[in-house]
Amino acid sequence: MDCIFCKIVSGEIPSYKVYEDDDILAFLDIIPVNPGHTLVIPKKHYETILDTPDDVLKNILVVSKRIAQKIMEVTGAEGFNFNQNNFSVSGQVVPHVHFHIIPRFENDGLKLWAGDKYDDGQAEILTKKIRIYND
Ligand code: AMP
Ligand code: ZN
Repeated sequence: MDCIFCKIVSGEIPSYKVYEDDDILAFLDIIPVNPGHTLVIPKKHYETILDTPDDVLKNILVVSKRIAQKIMEVTGAEGFNFNQNNFSVSGQVVPHVHFHIIPRFENDGLKLWAGDKYDDGQAEILTKKIRIYND
């Protein structure tokens, strides 16, 4: 498959690996927002979290927690963003699901998204439509 992250998994493309097990690989982002910026991926190719099995997602979250802790210790970061883009409209460039761990420092210049207010009644309508009830 012509996927850059699959090629990293297979070793066809080199990477700076910081974690590996049977199902998960983590490596340094080649264009880091801050040094230590790491990507965590399933070794199997899934495009977004929507087609990634739940057990894989759970494992990635647990592993990411360990990696984030280590990144904070090593870089001296005061916090981190755990970021994940799905589909190109959201900014996903590599269509192999991945999670960014971005160490953060005071005044490091990274801008997050701006929010806006809801129109009157819009939040109520959307809540009714989106609300998921567990049976
Ligand atoms: P996204 O915009 O969420 O799809 O993020 C893709 C990320 O992959 C970007 O932050 C890139 O810098 C990173 N990236 C692309 N190619 C490589 C590579 N060969 N090794 C490490 N990171 C990469
Ligand atoms: Zn892939």
